[in-house]
Amino acid sequence: MDKIPVSTLELICLGSSFAFSGLFYYLYRKKKATVNILKGASQLQINDQLVEFLNDTPGKCVHYAVVEGVTRPVKEVLHSHYQDKCNGVIQRLILKEHKLIWNHLARSWNESERIIHQRVNTVPFDLVSSYGGRRSVRVISPLEASGLEFDTVYERFHQAAQGLTDLIGHYLSGEKPKGFLETEEMIRVGATLTGIGELVLDSDKIVKLQPPRDGLEYFLSTLDFSSILKQQESSIRLWKVFMAVSSLAGIVVVAVVLRRMYCQFNEKTEQEEMRRKYESLRVGESGDVAGGAAGGTNETPENACVICLSNPRECVFLSCGHVCCCYDCFRALLTPSCPMCRSLIVRVVPLYQA
Ligand SMILES: [Zn+2]
Ligand SMILES: [Zn+2]
Repeated sequence: MDKIPVSTLELICLGSSFAFSGLFYYLYRKKKATVNILKGASQLQINDQLVEFLNDTPGKCVHYAVVEGVTRPVKEVLHSHYQDKCNGVIQRLILKEHKLIWNHLARSWNESERIIHQRVNTVPFDLVSSYGGRRSVRVISPLEASGLEFDTVYERFHQAAQGLTDLIGHYLSGEKPKGFLETEEMIRVGATLTGIGELVLDSDKIVKLQPPRDGLEYFLSTLDFSSILKQQESSIRLWKVFMAVSSLAGIVVVAVVLRRMYCQFNEKTEQEEMRRKYESLRVGESGDVAGGAAGGTNETPENACVICLSNPRECVFLSCGHVCCCYDCFRALLTPSCPMCRSLIVRVVPLYQA
């Protein structure tokens, strides 16, 4: 069996398309399952009934529940480093380096940024009902949750100092520092959050919202429940599109390879037909020679192929018109050029001698 005509690049494309399609399909299924579970999640209010409800539930736990409330620290509070009277329950301090990097291909300077330092501080906090009331839900492991959007409370850009020698250095190294961006972000006290996760009533009668034990996604977001649902639904569509695009890339590669195989098969069949035609021609001619020549001589016949000097000349090369080769020698030519005049052979036609 013939080797399948596929290049290394095509194999890599096919492999990556297969791998990415699989990955996107996995993410799509996972997101779809999350959305289905989210749609069925119980939406509970933070009030006295919540405690009673959990008390009556087997295991004092609701597997996947939605609660909405405002943040309130349990004891201490985090103070902003830069803004007075700005308090929060989660604080993130980031220092980013901004620089320009010379792109040799595009011959231009490209923006680049890199986090060089990040620190996150948290204090234990509760969610309380925005309508008041003494009941609260303690938020456990808030940093494990997805969807948490911080409020930027401070931002300052420190420009890098640049002298003449620095400038020369930048052009030589291909890196131009722009400066450092210092930011402070917070989840403020009193911010409205929607929490989606496992709700448990512990032995001290504290209601806790924690990451679900079976790997379901834990959410803590400033968006309301319907917006979270919409966001998740749009990401299902996104994974679907990615999956379709990567599968399509794989299908295109397969189609290209199949087309090439088909062309090669056609070419081979054509050559085989040609060979058979020349063979039958040769058989006819050798019969004529045997009949016409009186006695065998070792001399090369006048119309012998200029390459093998044994078979008769049987190909007319176009467009130069030379008749100098047998079909076997023509097939053995390394380049499609006439052995007599070196001009390109565009077509070969069999020579019929009557
Ligand atoms: Zn020959
Ligand atoms: Zn020629």
